[in-house]
Amino acid sequence: MIFDLHTHSTASDGSLTPAELLNRAAENDVSYLSMTDHDTVDGYATLGGQSFPGVTVIPGIELSTTWAGRNIHVVGLNIDPENSDLAAGIRLQQLARQQRAEKIAARLAKKGMENPLEKVQQLANGGSIGRPHFAQYLVEEGIVRDFRQAFQKYLGNGKLGDVRQFWSPLEDVIEWIRAAGGTAVLAHPAHYKLTNTRLRSLSEDFIAAGGQALEVVSGIQTKQLTDKLLRLCDDLRLMASCGSDFHAPGKSWSEVGKFTPLPPGCRPVWESW
Ligand code: AMP
Ligand code: MN
Ligand code: MN
Ligand code: MN
Repeated sequence: MIFDLHTHSTASDGSLTPAELLNRAAENDVSYLSMTDHDTVDGYATLGGQSFPGVTVIPGIELSTTWAGRNIHVVGLNIDPENSDLAAGIRLQQLARQQRAEKIAARLAKKGMENPLEKVQQLANGGSIGRPHFAQYLVEEGIVRDFRQAFQKYLGNGKLGDVRQFWSPLEDVIEWIRAAGGTAVLAHPAHYKLTNTRLRSLSEDFIAAGGQALEVVSGIQTKQLTDKLLRLCDDLRLMASCGSDFHAPGKSWSEVGKFTPLPPGCRPVWESW
């Protein structure tokens, strides 16, 4: 049975609508799918009561936070998307995204670019504004060749689009997830490029703040990484989660439902539901 517990739709920076995402999950034999858009659950309202053959939807979200000056992502799974504490947290995150977008746009405008804020708002189409919308803007304006170059030159670590001070602290985002009845998962631990010691320290702070699981698998990954994350889970008694982190069809992202299997010996998050 395939559990894909990390995916994106047009409610944030994915390219498929929630219904298209669910249809693709059905085609790819996914049994349980969580749509975990960045700092929003709006995709769930779009889905309404529609059902998709063979797919059970697990409501989820991916929340941005800051730890030791870095952007960290926490996935909340099996949440009540209508919980009022979570909704209040999401409002803070959306305000933060809006303020960050204004700051990035002002920096781009200073470089002579035209109406960046207006254009990214159009691209986000009412959804959660993210750096990928700025990447799309830079590509469409012919300022960069592709997303990769957009992140390398303008949006990645240390570049003008890397504005960090806006996200809520780790304790808060985990509290919102727990208040909504959800399981808090430390997303894609390898993305943060931390040393083993720092990753352990982040994981310990995550647990102290109420975090419950580690995303042992994110897309297609090496056995070496899977083994390392399994050991960390074991040592710290965390549950394990997995997902594709699908954003769009094509080569840049893992396909819905396609990722390295969770290794035997871990305790999958869904066993606690
Ligand atoms: P944000 O949440 O607005 O800070 O944007 C982060 C998102 O940007 C991630 O979830 C990815 O979807 C995307 N992203 C980050 N780094 C890159 C990159 N180097 N190339 C393409 N997309 C990226
Ligand atoms: Mn994303
Ligand atoms: Mn992420
Ligand atoms: Mn993601």
